[in-house]
Amino acid sequence: MSENSAPTPPKKVHVKTWGCQMNVYDSERMTGLLKPLGYAPTEIAEEADLVILNTCHIREKAAEKLYSELGRLKKHGRNADAKIAVAGCVAQAEGAEIRARAPQVDLVFGPQSYHRLPEMIARAAREKGEVLETEFEAEEKFDALGQSREAEGYTAFVTVQEGCDKFCTFCVVPYTRGAEISRSTDDITAEVRSLAAQGVREVTLLGQNVNAWHGAAPAGSGADDWGLGQLCRHIARIDGIERIRFTTSHPRDMDDELIAAFGEEEKLMPYLHLPVQSGSDRILKAMNRGHTAEDYLRQIDAVRAARPDIAISGDMIVGFPGEDDKAFEETMALVREVNYASCFSFKYSRRPGTPGATMPKQIAEEIKSARLLELQALLEDQKQAFNAGLVGKTLPVLFEKKGRSPGQLSGRSPYLQGVFAEGPESLIGQIVPVLITGTHPNSLSGILQKEAA
Ligand code: SAM
Ligand code: SF4
Repeated sequence: MSENSAPTPPKKVHVKTWGCQMNVYDSERMTGLLKPLGYAPTEIAEEADLVILNTCHIREKAAEKLYSELGRLKKHGRNADAKIAVAGCVAQAEGAEIRARAPQVDLVFGPQSYHRLPEMIARAAREKGEVLETEFEAEEKFDALGQSREAEGYTAFVTVQEGCDKFCTFCVVPYTRGAEISRSTDDITAEVRSLAAQGVREVTLLGQNVNAWHGAAPAGSGADDWGLGQLCRHIARIDGIERIRFTTSHPRDMDDELIAAFGEEEKLMPYLHLPVQSGSDRILKAMNRGHTAEDYLRQIDAVRAARPDIAISGDMIVGFPGEDDKAFEETMALVREVNYASCFSFKYSRRPGTPGATMPKQIAEEIKSARLLELQALLEDQKQAFNAGLVGKTLPVLFEKKGRSPGQLSGRSPYLQGVFAEGPESLIGQIVPVLITGTHPNSLSGILQKEAA
């Protein structure tokens, strides 16, 4: 761990995060960037000198949650000099509106400006005025965020790709996160090496379209350009790294090399999150997904041929404009065919500025709700069946922390389920074989088979 150069008493920063893993990761990075300025993290908003609200704009409720949190902060009082910053995709999309609706906010900045946070805070302190920073300057961002993070456990997220050019007609990401860019192989390698040296054993490579990642192959490797499959194989060779995951992938960017890596690279965990959104070709076209249901099913078959035990996960949207009963039935049929281990499902939410928002044949809320219920019942059955199929099997579990009850440890299976087992704390940070004996709504329980070496 690097030395803390904080003056005493340290200032405190409270970060509240909504949305995707990319936001969780960005929040960690912001906390890391603020350490040299003397800010220690706190869970209690009221005692913080700086409150950062890191927002998500994917569905409507996110912006409402921001304003209600701002109202709560105002009502419950806060440190008199505390600054409030709004970060993330709502800040990117609605910067001016936030300033107008919430004058108590001091800083507003989008995901492309995090690396300037120390500078913005210094400037805000000097001017005692608000700062609005939502211009895209993506290329600088990875450079500045490159080395700043300290590992806090045995698993870590590493951003390898940002942004999206795919412009699905329902989605705000291309407008809030900017164009697709890949972080360089050398930077990623350096960050993973540093995390491994701090004890991290599992890394999850992150990107809005993570499998669109491409980068220069290291000198002497005999290749020019690498895709995500080669990057995973490369990271697997870093001492200390035992498990690799990546999320979120797009069907259009699944290449043969990545599929092959699932069969050949043991450290690549048998779990693939590959959203399809709908089972209807007509709706997929209206969504501008650029693939058919059949293309997706072929990819799932290929991945399963490479790695038969793989757990498939996905995202589904019901109630996209024009989705009739037949289209919804096609989604249900696709879900039955894939048989997901887990899957996120959402009602379509009209995002201002996206083409979907002004399409004809918007679907009534009651229909969306009924379809979502039906879909979620099927997905829940599939998830429970997948979990039940693991009872009696021995899985390698990476223990990450103590469980809720005394003597219990909590970890993750290769398929990303939470697993609980009784065991000594010395096993935290180790990968240990566990016989799975029970399933619970969101986790598995089991018995240690032997202690890790
Ligand atoms: N890049 C990924 C992909 O292509 O599938 C997903 C990124 S998005 C942050 C995560 C998920 O949110 C999407 O897969 C989609 O299911 C859901 N989502 C995005 N916009 C939505 C909207 N307007 N309404 C409902 N769900 C939405
Ligand atoms: Fe959004 Fe589509 Fe890009 Fe995923 S691929 S981030 S859903 S525009």
